[in-house]
Amino acid sequence: MDFQFTEQQQSIQDAIEKICGDFPLDYWGERDESGQFPEEFVQALAKDGWLGIAMPEEYGGAGLGISDACVMLESIARSGAGLSGASAVHINVFGPHPIVVHGTEEQKKRWLTPLIAGEEKCCFGVTEPDAGLNTSAIKTRAERDGNNYKVSGTKMWTSTAQEAEKVLLLARTTARDKVAKPFDGISLFYTDLDRRYVEIREIPKMGRKAVDTNFVFYDNLPVPKEDLIGEEGRGFYYLLDGINPERCLIAAEAIGIGQFALSRAADYARERVVFDRPIGQNQGIQHPLAESWAKLEAARLLTYKAAWLYDQGQPCGAEANAAKYLCAEVGFEACERAILTHGGMGYAKEYHVERMLREVMITRLAPVGQQLALSYIAERQLRMPKSY
Ligand SMILES: Cc1cc2nc3c(=O)[nH]c(=O)nc-3n(C[C@H](O)[C@H](O)[C@H](O)COP(=O)(O)OP(=O)(O)OC[C@H]3O[C@@H](n4cnc5c(N)ncnc54)[C@H](O)[C@@H]3O)c2cc1C
Repeated sequence: MDFQFTEQQQSIQDAIEKICGDFPLDYWGERDESGQFPEEFVQALAKDGWLGIAMPEEYGGAGLGISDACVMLESIARSGAGLSGASAVHINVFGPHPIVVHGTEEQKKRWLTPLIAGEEKCCFGVTEPDAGLNTSAIKTRAERDGNNYKVSGTKMWTSTAQEAEKVLLLARTTARDKVAKPFDGISLFYTDLDRRYVEIREIPKMGRKAVDTNFVFYDNLPVPKEDLIGEEGRGFYYLLDGINPERCLIAAEAIGIGQFALSRAADYARERVVFDRPIGQNQGIQHPLAESWAKLEAARLLTYKAAWLYDQGQPCGAEANAAKYLCAEVGFEACERAILTHGGMGYAKEYHVERMLREVMITRLAPVGQQLALSYIAERQLRMPKSY
């Protein structure tokens, strides 16, 4: 058993920290106010090849594992970039995974190369207003039109759609009442987000303003049949390949945010003098922060265990769900405690801890709610009956 980063992982952390060092807290604070996408940050990562960390080397990627990608995203989040930085590049790590596994050689070359080079961006169109977490209930339809498809429907919460040229899109190709199983008849496409047939409307939200999230209305979007991934009707199953990596990455991001908030709180507690002593000399201030340190360390270990299992090709569903659940909770708690440690200053934007609380909240809601992460463990690990 080895609890240390490999030499390579250590060098990933060093390199990412160096890049993040060029993007100080003021940069992220300003982006949080203006909502401007952090393009310079994305390009800085692209320049050194980081956007393809877990993509095959033939297309410009580094061919590394999800554990390595966790190191990268944890480091980004911990730098103070939080999810404003991590969410700007997160999709590149797990999103195109179905293309790597099920795409043709021609598709991989056509799609992965510009994505890894930072010349194109993609977004992820799964969630719909009336389906929620029940993906089998999606209503977006891809109708055959000769050799091609036409897609109509409404997606919700599609992040980075304002910036993206491409969308990884889930749509029904066969009606739910005409298939044997609810998840049959759903297909996965990677196609142009052609604004002539697509309206993108931003959703004002609590945090992470620099990375947009949107309603996307598809009105007969023409999709060439060459943009279908794998076999028609199997798309939902292809997405499953990327679910556990996504859970691990979100967990690592929540930990990075928690670590950042905790370190800001400890700095402040050492420096702020009230009643003629640093507030950090009071156990009432020390203990919640020390407890958060312990919880973050434990949750972090589980995250790297889940990612390691995935990289070994072993089952990791329970660990990945547990990591996402725990990291989101302890990351959120660390941010809340960091604000409380700062007293009134915790509520001021200047200290950057309130921004972290607003951003870490996302990890409790997405890509799956906390309840369903627990339901997975109850059902698959503890063999209790399915509850939904
Ligand atoms: C900032 C942000 C960015 C996002 N980006 C994307 C994106 O890029 N692409 C994309 O496709 N989606 C994206 N999402 C959507 C996200 O994945 C969904 O919000 C999430 O899957 C939950 O779906 P929902 O909001 O419809 O919740 P619902 O399904 O409506 O659930 C509401 C609540 O009920 C709980 N619940 C539901 N069913 C059960 C049950 N059977 N038992 C117990 N509890 C239950 C849920 O856990 C949740 O707490 C994003 C969301 C956010 C907030």
